[in-house]
Amino acid sequence: MKKLLLPIGLLFALVLSAQDIYVQCGSIVDVESGKILSEKTIVVSGNKIKSIQNGFVSGSENDEVIDLKNKTVLPGLIDLHVHIESESSPKVYMNRFVLNEADVAFNSTVYAKRTLMAGFTTVRDLGGSGVNIALRNAIDKGVVVGPRIYTAGKALATTGGHADPTNGMKKSLMGDPGPKEGVVNSPEDGKKAVRQRYKEGADVIKITATGGVLSVAKSGQNPQFTIEEIKAITATAKDYGMLTAAHAHGDEGMQRAIKGGIKTIEHGTKMSEETMELMKEYNSYLVPTITAGKEVAEKAEIEGYFPEIIAQKAREIGPLIQNTFKKAYKKGVPIAFGTDAGVFPHGLNAKEFGYMVEVGMSEIDALKSATVTNADLLGMKDELGQIKEGFLADIIAVEENPLKNVTTLENVVFVMKNGVVYKN
Ligand SMILES: [Zn+2]
Repeated sequence: MKKLLLPIGLLFALVLSAQDIYVQCGSIVDVESGKILSEKTIVVSGNKIKSIQNGFVSGSENDEVIDLKNKTVLPGLIDLHVHIESESSPKVYMNRFVLNEADVAFNSTVYAKRTLMAGFTTVRDLGGSGVNIALRNAIDKGVVVGPRIYTAGKALATTGGHADPTNGMKKSLMGDPGPKEGVVNSPEDGKKAVRQRYKEGADVIKITATGGVLSVAKSGQNPQFTIEEIKAITATAKDYGMLTAAHAHGDEGMQRAIKGGIKTIEHGTKMSEETMELMKEYNSYLVPTITAGKEVAEKAEIEGYFPEIIAQKAREIGPLIQNTFKKAYKKGVPIAFGTDAGVFPHGLNAKEFGYMVEVGMSEIDALKSATVTNADLLGMKDELGQIKEGFLADIIAVEENPLKNVTTLENVVFVMKNGVVYKN
């Protein structure tokens, strides 16, 4: 019996000293109303926002105070399209043959930390080797510092399609990957591939509905799935409660994805007006990734950066994305914020805001796309994307009012995720 006394005493001591955090905010952006709230204090208890009080409040002696009186405070940002395992470099094609999983894992921890420090407290990873699943778990356990991750694990492709992992290899290495490896060629394969991702621990399903820029293959835009295959995939994903995303540059592949029930269309490069109407009808979201488009077009001009077959596609497709986004936004297509970070250096995700605003999106709409909209798509609208009582304490701060100067989001000075301060 005596042995039990110490731990119980210790437990009481811990409970008594549990402190709340009082975050004193000069201004808060209420992303839902688009209003700026002045002089408020956010009280954080554990991993949640306990209350928001008027004025600068300090709590009791046991409580901690964080002074953000000269800053503008916002909810943590959400990027719906990153590839957290890797980062663009001329070496990536060789890396497929020389890096072990452990090497990829170590690198991914660096990218994850950089992403969180840039104010992105939640991301959706749209495809890697599966290390992204282990990374998510390590972050959740507190072993690694990084954003909250929703991951697709391995993206799904058809044989020779954009995410066929053996594209561009010599025949003896190509083999014949199947649903287990994320390659499907029939509705039945599609069901198996989704179930396999579920078994491995993926949260979302990503398909490559058309050709892409960075795969070693000729077309960057041809349709690569039949509508029957897409329907089998989305129906199975629905059974497992998984959100669906489709990479798409060409119009035909995009239309099949939308009609097949895919929720977010990534890039949307050659989207026709007819397809924009279809997006509205089906309530599908465009995830623009303008930053990635600009980056690949720029890198294609560097001799030897990409293999020539890729450089050609990058020059053609990259520069089109921003203009498509502009038209889609004007037409009222639902927009969700996503950058394709990894195609450009992780941590520069907030550049996307500047590119969105540059072609006519209002600052508040850009912010909404990266907070309330994305939280809703992830099924977390009552927990993420706002600074509100009862929500998870994901809080960031910047120097200026982002509704007047959106580029201030590229310089985040304070980051709290789940009630823990990572940057101040
Ligand atoms: Zn991507």
